[in-house]
Amino acid sequence: MTGGTVHIMISLRNARDAVWQQMSVLPVVEVSFADAYGCVLACDVIAAENVPPFANTAVDGYAVRAADVQHVPCELRVIGELAAGAAPTIAVGAGEAIRIMTGAPIPAGADAIVMVEDTERVGASHVRITASVPSGAAIRAAGSDVTVGDRVFVAGAVINAVAVGVLSSVNARAVQVYRRAVVGVLSTGDELVDDGSVLKMGQIRESNRTMLVRMVQEAGATAVDLGIIKDDEELLEHTLRDAATRVDAIVTSGGVSMGDYDVVKIVLSRIANMEWMQIAMKPAKPFAFGVLTHNGRSVPVFGLPGNPVSSMVSFELLARPALRMMCGHGAGAHRQRVRVVVDETISRKRDSKVHFDRVFAQWGPDGRVHVSRSGAQGSHQLAASSMANALLEIPDGEGIAAGQDAWALLIGPVLASASNDDASV
Ligand code: AMP
Ligand code: MG
Repeated sequence: MTGGTVHIMISLRNARDAVWQQMSVLPVVEVSFADAYGCVLACDVIAAENVPPFANTAVDGYAVRAADVQHVPCELRVIGELAAGAAPTIAVGAGEAIRIMTGAPIPAGADAIVMVEDTERVGASHVRITASVPSGAAIRAAGSDVTVGDRVFVAGAVINAVAVGVLSSVNARAVQVYRRAVVGVLSTGDELVDDGSVLKMGQIRESNRTMLVRMVQEAGATAVDLGIIKDDEELLEHTLRDAATRVDAIVTSGGVSMGDYDVVKIVLSRIANMEWMQIAMKPAKPFAFGVLTHNGRSVPVFGLPGNPVSSMVSFELLARPALRMMCGHGAGAHRQRVRVVVDETISRKRDSKVHFDRVFAQWGPDGRVHVSRSGAQGSHQLAASSMANALLEIPDGEGIAAGQDAWALLIGPVLASASNDDASV
């Protein structure tokens, strides 16, 4: 549908499918391992180096010949010292030991390390060994973490902080990843101010784009702040066309419903190929999605509603998974949808919509996730939604009674309850 107004509500699933069909994964780029953080690998990573690169000691102690320490206590002559980073220059002979620090290479002749706790220094030249060790004791073999040729990561893996460390450890200087989407974010409305000035009657402070810029970043994409755009068709058209030349997707807030000054609707209907949706959900019923083609580039546009909570929920349910898909995420494009216990009775009326209440989710002592509302649920009441870590699905009907199960979408980490935190470990 281009340009028309749709009054029949469609299901969230259909709205998502309509978005999904138009999305494609961005091209593969080569980035440094550090910049790969949060990206999705496009190729397997094969180790070109061993980790560790040489056999080294796991403990501070003495490098010995295991055969020399079978009968303890015994005394060995200390012939040198090896710190981490030093290269061995002399070999350990019969009846000899070298003082060695964690991470230092194993000197020739030695085949075991006696930890310092099992030794006593006897003057400057000798050490008494009080525990016998087998050959190989406390020696970390070359390649015992990663061996040359190992497949350290497979395509599709998301590079987390630990994985960045692993890439560094195998000297994978550059890796192939799906390009991180660059997403332009703007808000529309003559009433919006964000300069801290005293509010004139009718003005309100901007919140949506400020929030959405961070939500885009949290989704793993790069946000470009396109500012507050007045309800002015020419200005909005110019901003959108200019953005289309330099971003991979555009997120707008406001102006997509039935108001006379819904300029996003007016302008995008004219310059882009849009679907104007009324989704059978609350909040965030109005939603627009389409593709803006300008100077040969086609850019998906997400038209989120202006009510702040609607903007938030709409982004979570429709824009976020699509943007993550562009960045190469597979199943990880989606939030986790889990079964939860609803701790308070939530009443609602039949209206043919699914309600998404903002809730606190917390692990209970029964090992299940429990939820309760985070505060007032009006679509303008953003403050009450800000600390929510889940969206509770309340199907059309009379609501959910306390103690019943329901589905929730986790939008943040679920907190531990007092009984299952790690304090007792
Ligand atoms: P609209 O969708 O443009 O009709 O806006 C719906 C409601 O959301 C109105 O009350 C607007 O003032 C408010 N609103 C729209 N955009 C924003 C924004 N960026 N920040 C805060 N409130 C907004
Ligand atoms: Mg508006």
